[in-house]
Amino acid sequence: MSLIRHYINGTEVGEVIRTLPVYNPATGEQQHEVVCASVSEVESAIAAAKKAFPAWRATSLTKRSGVFFRLRHLLVERRAELAAIVTSEHGKVLSDADGEIARGLENVEFASGLINLLKGDFSEQVSTGIDIHQVKQPVGVVGAVTPFNFPVMVPLWMVASAIACGNTVVLKPSEKDPSAAIFLAKLFTEAGLPDGVLNVVHGDKVAVDTILDSPDVKAVSFVGSTPIARSIYQRASANGKRVQALGGAKNHMVVMPDADINGAADAAISAAYGSAGERCMAVSVLVAVGNIADELVENIRTKIGDLVIGDGTHPESEMGPLITREARDRVASYVANAPGEGATVVVDGRDKKFDSNGFFIGVSLVDNVTPDMAVYRDEIFGPVLAVVRVNTYEEAVELINNNSFGNGVAIFTRDGGTARQFEFDIEVGMVGINVPIPVPIGAYSFGGWKDSLFGDSHIYGPESIHFYTRSKVVTSRWPRAEQSRIDLGFPGNH
Ligand code: NAD
Repeated sequence: MSLIRHYINGTEVGEVIRTLPVYNPATGEQQHEVVCASVSEVESAIAAAKKAFPAWRATSLTKRSGVFFRLRHLLVERRAELAAIVTSEHGKVLSDADGEIARGLENVEFASGLINLLKGDFSEQVSTGIDIHQVKQPVGVVGAVTPFNFPVMVPLWMVASAIACGNTVVLKPSEKDPSAAIFLAKLFTEAGLPDGVLNVVHGDKVAVDTILDSPDVKAVSFVGSTPIARSIYQRASANGKRVQALGGAKNHMVVMPDADINGAADAAISAAYGSAGERCMAVSVLVAVGNIADELVENIRTKIGDLVIGDGTHPESEMGPLITREARDRVASYVANAPGEGATVVVDGRDKKFDSNGFFIGVSLVDNVTPDMAVYRDEIFGPVLAVVRVNTYEEAVELINNNSFGNGVAIFTRDGGTARQFEFDIEVGMVGINVPIPVPIGAYSFGGWKDSLFGDSHIYGPESIHFYTRSKVVTSRWPRAEQSRIDLGFPGNH
């Protein structure tokens, strides 16, 4: 069993005081131990980032962008190796792991354009002989805390833009699948990033709290579940930091009576059960409008029996296991309790048998769900699709707008007017029109509303440049000596 250690100042370090197990979810066996950082180890990572900051900040934009061009090349070259690491610790199928690397690459490509992104503004002659210009300067040391479900993509959402802007970073990846972050950090080093600019510390609350409480950390990016996101936002902002804390989700997909039912069913299956439902943009609620519900549910029921669930390294597998035994059991409990709440379990994933000790469960389809049920209210984060039947478009919108989450949403319709009205009405941060998982490309920013994001900046893309920089506005004039005079009045414009 190998030991996964921190990466601080370009070196793998870590005292083995406390460790956590890292499993292979497809076999259920522990394969690694990850060291948990002590307060002093996290402080040493923050100190390394602080020390590296002045020189990185002063590094020319051309040299900085060169690191990202080389990183892109290395990531493409070693893509299969990285995907295999993701699959072995997370469990998602290899093609899905490769897909997350592809989306992470978008963030690297975006960052490589940093010369354009960091352009300031200049206004000549705003008053007689006076010019004004605005520059974007890095904030300093950034803390980045990431969830288990995208061990490559979500760290890249944060570190690519943060580093491009001239900041240095302490990344705390999920303790459940920590190897990908170390692989990424080493790749950054290989691409020419100086030691100390990107540091990785492992662990849990102890490590995170040390980041949140350190006066040397100026900004915190977090992605994870809503209760933790809320507490991270409160603690870090009380400590005077800028914070963006992205939380959980309950994403609805509305199917209008005029939609292509077969296509909508395919989209719902893909978005609900892909990555075993462990995506923050997974569709977990299908809202069937009008009289199409029976046909839609039947279409989905007949198809999901054929899904191939198995070890993510097997090419035929379409869905892998859940991340832990506890996650699997938690998902099973929601399906078990659904009939007692009045829902109809059309397909029960617990019935599917696996000849493996891995954390597998079959896919579930639960019909006649209402908003008061736990299967609707809670983020289950597993392969469970709940169907809510409504009569009208207005009821669908009201249902979604009353939900506390607001990450992603989709509408399936052939009517452009309905789609346009939905876009206008819906209180959700990311909207798909006949697109079930509307994750914006890297040139836009990603973020939900309501309990899906605490803070005012979305992540990656243009909003990340705003988040990871401070504006400085410079007013200047170059008067001749004879123009000098005393004037106690407030500077006016002349
Ligand atoms: P999680 O909240 O359990 O953990 C996220 C991170 O926080 C991990 O690094 C973890 O070690 C750390 N952490 C856990 N408990 C903590 C505590 N008490 N104090 C400080 N830090 C703590 O989330 P997870 O289970 O790893 O990931 C799944 C969740 O992430 C889901 O809710 C999913 O919707 C959400 N998610 C959201 C987005 C988004 O963009 N909104 C993207 C991916 C995942």
